[in-house]
This record gives sequence, structure tokens and C-alpha cells, in this order.
Amino acid sequence: MTNRDEMIHTAISARLQRVRERITETCIHCGRAPGTVRLVAVSKTMPIDVVRSAIQSGAEILGENYIQEAREKCRELSDTPVSWHFIGHLQTNKAKYAVKLFDLIHTVDSVHLAAELDREARKIGKIQQILIQVNVGNELSKSGVAPELARRLICDIADYANISVQGLMAIPPFFDAPEKVRPYFRQLRKLRDSLQDAKSLGPHLAELSMGMTGDFEAAIEEGATLVRIGTAIFGERP
Ligand SMILES: *Cc1c(COP(=O)(O)O)cnc(C)c1O
Repeated sequence: MTNRDEMIHTAISARLQRVRERITETCIHCGRAPGTVRLVAVSKTMPIDVVRSAIQSGAEILGENYIQEAREKCRELSDTPVSWHFIGHLQTNKAKYAVKLFDLIHTVDSVHLAAELDREARKIGKIQQILIQVNVGNELSKSGVAPELARRLICDIADYANISVQGLMAIPPFFDAPEKVRPYFRQLRKLRDSLQDAKSLGPHLAELSMGMTGDFEAAIEEGATLVRIGTAIFGERP
């Protein structure tokens, strides 16, 4: 390692540890077991050596947004035991790669995409775990199924044998104050709870993927089981 590599490694280690401490402190503060919140280290745009540093510092799940970038990283880092999650917008024609690379796909928002993932997963004999992305702010610019259509979507894909819906994910509207985002986290949790109550959908909706660098503590207080954190671990993206 060069001096510069060492500095980067030290910085990432320290930041990752601090994020872990904040997750633990928040869990204790709101009466949750720290093990119920998993950290997805969002490594999009970060070079391989930086991502490797995060893994060596204990990151267990990496979140990526772009298929092409993820393919390269997975190849380069195939010697590591890390789990890869897809958190970006997934085009149907990339479903094949997504199924090969990712343990969990957070961003399924249409029957069409689910059908394609099911088809590709069947080809390689996999049950692909997915989350349903919900557009909690009803923003025109954002992906995700409208909250009132989430139940219909989950029912429509319930028969696909090679995908398994594990829960919900949201990217709420942007605010620089976590308290302004909190109502959206609460909304996602309530939606999840109401879907869980519908027996026909089964008990498979345990996961709530919500909370990023600016607001993950509020998300945990509102029930997040997966927080997606980039900047607080890797620094500002270029
Ligand atoms: C980039 C990204 C994140 C991480 O955001 P930070 O603010 O850097 O923590 C989380 N979720 C999604 C979907 C992202 O695209």
C-alpha cells in the first residue's frame, strides 16, 4: 500500500465505524435490537481499491446503482465474501445481469420488470429476492409504484415462482432536514404493515429499505431494516 492508499483506508475505516456506532446508538435509543438494522454501503462511482477498503473494514453489503459498473466491481472483488444489492433504476434488458450479480434487488416497480427477473432467475435456477420500490412522495420524476398500487403489484406477481418479495423500499423527496423526511418513512412502514396484515400476501414483507446519509437515524426510528449509506462512509461522490 502506498501512503495515499493507507490514508484512504484509514479514513474509510473510521467513517464506517462511526456509521455503525450511530446505527447502534439509534437502535438502543429507540428500543430496537441493533442486529435488526443492516447497513448497505453504497459504493456507486467509487473505485475498486476504495470499495475493497470498505470490505476490509467490515462492510458486508455493498449497494450499486449501475449494472455495468457493478459487473466490473463484482468481477474484481469476487475474492471477497461481500453481498451485492442493486439500488438503482433497473432496465428490463439488464435483468439478466442483475439476477446474476445481486442477492437483493431493491427497485422493482412493475409487473413487466418482475416478470423479466422471474424469467432470468428461472434460467439460472435462482430464487431472486426483491423489494418493491414505492414512490412515497408521488413524484413524477421518481421511479416506484404509487403507494395505492403496491398491493395490486404484489398480488400480480405473487405467482412468479423465481422471485420472492422481501419488503418495500423508498427514496423519499429530498429535504435537508430529517424531520421533514420522517413522515415518508412512517408512510412506508404503515403501508408495509397494512400489506403484512393481508394474509394472502404472506409473511415475506419484513424488510424496509429506507434512510440515507442525511436521514438514516430517523429512518431507523421509523422501522428501517436496511439503510443505504454512501456519503457518510465514502465521502462526497465526484
Ligand atoms: C446514492 C444512493 C444512496 C446513498 O446516498 P448517500 O446520501 O450518499 O448516503 C442511497 N440510496 C440510493 C437509492 C442511492 O441512489
